[in-house]
Parts: sequence; structure tokens; C-alpha cells
Amino acid sequence: MRLFLLTSLFVAIFGLKTFDGDQVLRILAKDEVQISLLQDLTQMEDLELDIWREASQPALPVDIHVPFHSIPMVKAFLEFHNIQYSIMIKDLQVILDEEQREMQSPHFTEPRSTDNYDYAMYHTLSEIYAFMDMLVAENPTLVSKLQIGNSYENRPLYVLKFSTGGSNRPGIWIDTGIHSREWVTQASGTWFAKKIVSDYGHDATLTAILNEMDIFLEIVTNPDGFYYTHTTNRMWRKTRKPSPGSTCVGVDPNRNWDAGFGGAGASANPCSETYHGPKANSEPEVKHIVDFVNSHRNLKAFVSIHSYSQMLMYPYGYTRTPVPDQLELHELAKKAITKLASLYGTSYRYGSIINTIYQASGGTIDWTYKQGIKYSYTFELRDTGRYGFLLPANQIIPTAEETWIALMVIMQQAKDNMY
Ligand SMILES: [Zn+2]
Repeated sequence: MRLFLLTSLFVAIFGLKTFDGDQVLRILAKDEVQISLLQDLTQMEDLELDIWREASQPALPVDIHVPFHSIPMVKAFLEFHNIQYSIMIKDLQVILDEEQREMQSPHFTEPRSTDNYDYAMYHTLSEIYAFMDMLVAENPTLVSKLQIGNSYENRPLYVLKFSTGGSNRPGIWIDTGIHSREWVTQASGTWFAKKIVSDYGHDATLTAILNEMDIFLEIVTNPDGFYYTHTTNRMWRKTRKPSPGSTCVGVDPNRNWDAGFGGAGASANPCSETYHGPKANSEPEVKHIVDFVNSHRNLKAFVSIHSYSQMLMYPYGYTRTPVPDQLELHELAKKAITKLASLYGTSYRYGSIINTIYQASGGTIDWTYKQGIKYSYTFELRDTGRYGFLLPANQIIPTAEETWIALMVIMQQAKDNMY
């Protein structure tokens, strides 16, 4: 108890929200009735449940972060309705404390080049921005930094452009961190950036790609949310724009795109983690990418990277209607995840969003596909729920390495079919 008070005192002083005694439950609904009971449960706002992993099909696990005060009620509900569950994370704060300890390593020194940047550590927004500047300074003929706009809180939205010349070459887009708490994605994006400059001129496949195409990489796609995860609430997912008439803040930037906007699999409630926002493209973090895509009509692949669940998916999320390229996208996904698994044995599921995970409207890659970008994919990186969003930092590099192999498969196919 004393420890609990002490931690609470820390919150008052430093402002980082704590989660003492909170648990993450893995719930397995066995039929449609239980799924609908779960939906009722998650809509009880007093419980303040935070869905980590959603599922709309029976037998797929649903992971829910349950605040300490709601645990008895939630467990009683599940037991009363005979819904199967297990405890994935017994005390969320224990894992968060470990993550904080790793970040405050006594050996940490400000890196002076991207060679001694610690890729096996989670970094703050300013550290990642400093990394980008170093990378550009070290590789001025290959890398440049574009600013596509500003976030709601006026932070710059930076995109790294890897280009060997030419104008309006066919392009490949990769973004990480659109959901801010998915820290392994921004960390992987940073590793990808270094990988590209290291492999150019050495790896034949990447060199061939960069000799004909540009690669655009947005590492911190939701900088306001990312800053907030470091300073205030590690579990923040959405943007940070207030909603008029509500005390709740933020829009789900992966429900804010103009593809099936406002349909099933998105919420109209500003307090929901999947709130779609007042209208399509209402979030500057989304709108500036939309403008970028519209002014670069030559993008051949668009890959938006999330965590967690270990999945590689293609459109659509908002409708069951298959995309015209379903066959090719399916085969390519299979090839990519097979290669991914060859490195560390990490196993991925794959398919269209609606068939693999759940119905979701207003998602990024549904919109990009509709703009004619055939190779539109979304990843859910490691893990499958042991740590969820709090993946230990020693898994960053293996995660980035295996993901890169899959990205190379997709980029190669985009290159082979770019005309
Ligand atoms: Zn996500």
C-alpha cells in the first residue's frame, strides 16, 4: 500500500499516468452471443476498458486492458456468462516500470552519429527527430527530410525521402507510429532508415529498387500522440485534437480516411479508441498524407505499420467485397510472411483486413488502394499479446529485421510491376 501511495505521489509530480494493478485479459468468445455480450461490456463507460486487440469472429482472442478498479466487475461478468478468459498481463505497471528502467539506462549518451544510435532502445520524439537530422547530414545525396505539414499541436510532420535522383519517380511509402502507443513501429521505422542507407550500393535488390524508385518513410506519423505517450499516458493511441462538446480528446487516425468513412468498425463516440472524427480527413496527421499522395500520383506501394498481432493485411477493411487484385495481393502477402518467418520463425496471419482481423471503416490502406496504389498493405508487428504494446526493447531489432525482409518482398514486386 505504501508503495502504491509512493507511485501516486510520483504521478502528481511527474505527470506520467500509472497503471498499478491493472490487468490485460485475453478473452475467447465462443460464439456470436458471447461476442455481443463482450460488446455490451466494453460499452460500459464506467469500467474504462481499453481494447488492445479486437476481434469480431468467434475463437479469435480479444485482449482488454482492465483498470484495477474494474477487475472484480469484469471477471464476475465473464464468469457469470461463462466466457473463457485468461490473464495476459498480471500487473501492467510492473512492465511499464521495466520499460522506464531500460530507457533511463545509466550508460545512455547522446549519439553523435547514426552509427552509435542505440536501435535496441525506445527513444523520445526529440531523439528520433535528432536521428533524422544526423541521417540526412551523413547521407546528403541519398536522404532528404520533407515536412509535409504540422500536427494539431503544431509539431512538424517529417518524411524521409530516399532518392538517387530523377524527378517524380515511382515511389514507395512506408509509415510507422500512426497509433502512438505502438512503440515498436517507430523504433522499427528508425532501424529501416538506417538499413536503407547501409544497404544502398551493397544489397543488389535494394540498390536496384532505389535506382528506379524513391522511398518515403514517415517514422512518427502521430507526433502529438507519441509525445503524450512519453510524458503523460503511455497507453495513448489517438491524435490529440479535442472534440467540441466532449471532455474526451483525440481521433483514431486509422478510422479518419475517406473510404467507407463512418461505417461499421468505427465509433461515433469521441470517448472511443476507434472514434472516426467529425469528418473524413479532419485530422491534420491524416490530411497531410492525403495531400502528399494526391500530389505524388506515382506511388506504387503504400505500407502502413502497426502493432501488435503479427498480421499482414491488404484491403478492404470496410467491406467484404474483394479488391480486384485480391489474388495477387494474397499470394504476395503469403510470400512476404513466409520469408519473414524464415529469419526467427515468427508466425504471421495474412489476408484482407475484414477477413483477418475485423471490419474497420475509414482505414488508411482502403483509401490508398482506392487511389490506385495497388500494393497497399498494413502490418501488425510483434507480438501476439504476451507484452502487447509494451514489447521489450530487446525485441526491437529482431522485429525490424524480419519486417524488413517482408517489406523487401513487397517493394520488389512493386518495382517489377511499376509500369
Ligand atoms: Zn494500430
